[in-house]
Amino acid sequence: MPKKIYLDYAATTPVAKEVLNEMLPYFSERYGNAMSVHSFGQEALQAIDNARERTADFFGASPSEIIFTSGATESNNLAIKGVIKSHYSNLKNKNTKPHIITTVFEHHCVLNACETVEKDGLAEITFIQPKKDGVIDVRDIKKAIRDNTILISVMYVNNEIGTVQPIEKIGALLKKENKSRVEKGLPLIIFHTDATQAVNYFNCDVNNLGVDLLSMSAHKIYGPKGIGALYIRKGTAIKHIQDGGDQEYKMRAGTHNVPGIVGLGKAVSMIKTEKTQKKNAEMMELRNYLIQRMLKEIPKSRLNGSTIKRSPNNANFSFKDVEGEGLLLSLDMEGIACSTGSACSSGALSPSHVLLSIGLQPEDAHGSLRITLGKNTTKKDIDAAVEKIKTIVERLRKISGKVLEEFYYQTKQNPA
Ligand code: PMP
Repeated sequence: MPKKIYLDYAATTPVAKEVLNEMLPYFSERYGNAMSVHSFGQEALQAIDNARERTADFFGASPSEIIFTSGATESNNLAIKGVIKSHYSNLKNKNTKPHIITTVFEHHCVLNACETVEKDGLAEITFIQPKKDGVIDVRDIKKAIRDNTILISVMYVNNEIGTVQPIEKIGALLKKENKSRVEKGLPLIIFHTDATQAVNYFNCDVNNLGVDLLSMSAHKIYGPKGIGALYIRKGTAIKHIQDGGDQEYKMRAGTHNVPGIVGLGKAVSMIKTEKTQKKNAEMMELRNYLIQRMLKEIPKSRLNGSTIKRSPNNANFSFKDVEGEGLLLSLDMEGIACSTGSACSSGALSPSHVLLSIGLQPEDAHGSLRITLGKNTTKKDIDAAVEKIKTIVERLRKISGKVLEEFYYQTKQNPA
């Protein structure tokens, strides 16, 4: 069996050695509950405080603005449902239904959270369509703002096609907008971004971006699974949605995942280092090489999403007359791990909502392949993957051609 090649870093990343080493003592030696007053508890609390400081530092925030959660799914749910809960907790809002603006190609945890509050009759939602290049036009956001808009949620980097959204521009627009809303006595608009796929590669300073809420997850940045964070700007109107203890400034009840939090803090602290920045630049070159080879050597292939406004680790292709699931399984048998659509929705046979949103026909969306690189990816891996994909695409096309021929033959023979 040849060496396995992992090209699905947007689904998850391996835990970095340095991260694991910092986490290990908190499983077995320093196992205190951070809410306990004794020395075991204080040791755990100190580790959490340290991770919170590292995380706050990365985002240009204050430590008290960082809330640890179980991951980006929870952070996004807390952001959306917590803002809605806060709206209704104000007696004067009891009879005014708020409005949320988001996009059609968010991760399902944002889409479904928005749909839930809409179905429960708690909010009206506008879903903005991206342009054909997979980027949202700020003017479309501006046009969608209503007097009762209280929340805008736009992802920073799309998890399927890797396109980068104009978060800083939306932030600047909302700063102006909110100024005039104060004068008009309208509710302020809270700005949330799901930065899960951006943290590794893009500037996430919350003041540069002009965001009030930002979600992230450790397992996308060489940290452990099951831990994430929500940045909450001081003064943001948001309430907790899970009842229990007083952990995380009463915003997120439940015993702290101390090893996870330690791991998140370490993973975040490694991003701005020279080593990581150099790796990211090399990764982009390798990704460009991959795109060039694929488009040149595989007929009827296309790259989905902008080439420029794109995360350095992402390439998403469509191949005419090829079924993505078949391609994925054939690649897996050859030891190459990629994804069609997002990992969370692969297995479902409906075409990717992201690819449909940028104008692909369902049959082309079905024939898509997401390749995401990571810090362990080499040129040799890319070359091996391209060769395998070329062969498999050709073989699948032959099969689908044969099936079609058969179909026409049979329908001719049996016109009914
Ligand atoms: N948002 C985006 C953009 C993602 O890529 C993911 C992970 N696929 C999530 C949210 C969910 O993150 P988690 O696995 O930490 O719940």
